[in-house]
Amino acid sequence: MEKLIINVAVCGSAPTREQNPAIPHSPKEIAEEALRAWRAGACVVHIHVRDPQTGEPDFKREYFAEALERIRAESDMLVNLTTSGFNIQSEDQDEERLIPIALKPDLCSLDVGSLNFRGRVFINHTDWVDKAAKRMQETGVKPEIEVFELGHLRQSLDMVKRGLVDDPPYFQFCLGVPWGAPADLSTLMAFREHLTLDCPWSVLGVGPHQLPITTHAMLMGGHVRVGFEDNLYLSRGVLADSNARFVERTVDLARILQREVATCEDARRILGIKPKA
Ligand code: MG
Repeated sequence: MEKLIINVAVCGSAPTREQNPAIPHSPKEIAEEALRAWRAGACVVHIHVRDPQTGEPDFKREYFAEALERIRAESDMLVNLTTSGFNIQSEDQDEERLIPIALKPDLCSLDVGSLNFRGRVFINHTDWVDKAAKRMQETGVKPEIEVFELGHLRQSLDMVKRGLVDDPPYFQFCLGVPWGAPADLSTLMAFREHLTLDCPWSVLGVGPHQLPITTHAMLMGGHVRVGFEDNLYLSRGVLADSNARFVERTVDLARILQREVATCEDARRILGIKPKA
């Protein structure tokens, strides 16, 4: 089996300090959390940014740039900047969403489909998706294609066919979000089956689903995503004091399951990403 890529999503745009006081706000805190997770064994960090004072989700170029610089100054971790977020709500922000690509991170997340998402509508119209994919391709940024439904997967495969995504495409199966596909084994197997390509894929599971669904993925040869964006608790009622705790647990599990953990260099090879100058 291929070595295991551990992605860590350190804050997302939804969790608050009322829910877990360890949520990072400033770019400096976000970078510090990323580096703690890297030291624990994560090789890719997925980043959303926030207003450093209020912790409200934000999308300022300077915040993304600072987090990226701080991580690169201290590590060879692969950085994945979001092109979505709870503060991104309207089509007027279509261009704003592409800002992170211009910073040339290793990866950017690319949400290809729309769905009802925690009481709002998460809209990713096809024109924007194609445009974002093209921009990533031109800029040399690898898309991490986020799919919440099998329809999103079909759409992505069509994009691959149309040449909008370079080889190998890399997928994140996002399971357990209300109201996307559920985070259970039969669903994960269905996603894997419909993928039809021999390419790297990862899974995330929301809340209590994080541990079981990532464990299933590890056994199936998939990669995993852990961290505060998806889950705040190590076990029932026990908050994690850092994203690194989830990474440590994943590394322990990988050892037990005899799956080797990928270094950053391994991850670049697996995902076909050149080191950034
Ligand atoms: Mg995200």
